[in-house]
Amino acid sequence: MATVKRYSIFCQKCNHKFPVFAMLPHTVEVDAWMKDKADNHDCKAYADQLAKERAPRPVNPLKASKKSA
Ligand SMILES: [Zn+2]
Repeated sequence: MATVKRYSIFCQKCNHKFPVFAMLPHTVEVDAWMKDKADNHDCKAYADQLAKERAPRPVNPLKASKKSA
């Protein structure tokens, strides 16, 4: 039985490591699969995501003052 594993893929294009969760069958060559993942890394989207996570949460005064009914 294959189980879901966490793979750490390193992208040489943007120099970032990113986690990929996958359930690989035993027939898959992990090294080739990881290389393929790195080659297909969406660097732009990943950079945007990182920037979003690092950015301080913008406070919306309208929403913050509005108590939930
Ligand atoms: Zn990348």
